[in-house]
Amino acid sequence: MVFGVVLGQERALRLLRRDLETGRIAHAYLFSGPEGVGKRTTAEFFACSILCLAPRERPCGECRSCRLFRMGNHPNYYFLAPEQGGSLGIALVKELLSKVYRSASGYRVAVIDQAESLTLEAQNAMLKLLEEPPRLVCFLLVTSQKEALLPTVVSRCREVKFGRLPRSVVAACLKERGFPPEEAACLASLSGGSLGKALTLSEERVKIWRERALELLVAPRLRTLLSWEEVKDKDLALTVLDFFTLWVRDFLVFQLTREPKLLLNGDREEKFWEETDLPLDYLLVAGDLADKARQWLRFNVRPAVCLEGLVVGLARKRGE
Ligand SMILES: [Zn+2]
Repeated sequence: MVFGVVLGQERALRLLRRDLETGRIAHAYLFSGPEGVGKRTTAEFFACSILCLAPRERPCGECRSCRLFRMGNHPNYYFLAPEQGGSLGIALVKELLSKVYRSASGYRVAVIDQAESLTLEAQNAMLKLLEEPPRLVCFLLVTSQKEALLPTVVSRCREVKFGRLPRSVVAACLKERGFPPEEAACLASLSGGSLGKALTLSEERVKIWRERALELLVAPRLRTLLSWEEVKDKDLALTVLDFFTLWVRDFLVFQLTREPKLLLNGDREEKFWEETDLPLDYLLVAGDLADKARQWLRFNVRPAVCLEGLVVGLARKRGE
């Protein structure tokens, strides 16, 4: 095993490797940064390294500890994550803490994934622990929404920041997972530097919305208005808007340069040649309308209504 299995996060890995080599392991770390960039994988890897029994080059992958870790039953390793859409309440945290304290000997490491789901009460319990941390215990809090954590919790953790991944890294990871090179390149362009997002976008149920967003931009029709009623969920509406904005961006770039290499939706080059007469001012208005729809979503307007507002705005502009 090599410390550095997560690509594109060299700065974070360097910091952790240094702590490991100097033996100055903090009581608590906060792994923060966008979703889908390798925070949890790194946390698990760091946990394995802390627990490894080898004198150096940890994790060795061969010692008893590494073997137990790999099999998923290391007695001194704990992992806590909320159920989908749920929160991490005080009872779960107390249970975790009592297990950590009960453990026999040696280092104990606990990963709390999606730490933003910790309730206020649970965070206060964590805080108490972090104020007087027990020896040989390390907590790894992983979050993509740092602002949801109490500042006092954040300040007691050693923060390790994760950035967005370079497009080439996302593409390479996708190819490694068996995606054909062209699809990998396209998904990487659309991913905004998140491998997790690229994988979500590759799912069939999501791909449909990329086409729908294209249709909406090229030919907005009022009679299709009610078809957006099936978008019930805020995340899906955001995905549609992201796709839409990427199409707007690509059409603008293409109208100005006629350069297919600059397209993020490069797999659909023919579409751009078909629609060379989309006016620039229409595209600019389309971008603004999408921003407005996002704002409405933020104010908790029903997702379908946000998209319908976009359709009306586009149809009006196109009909002029
Ligand atoms: Zn080992």
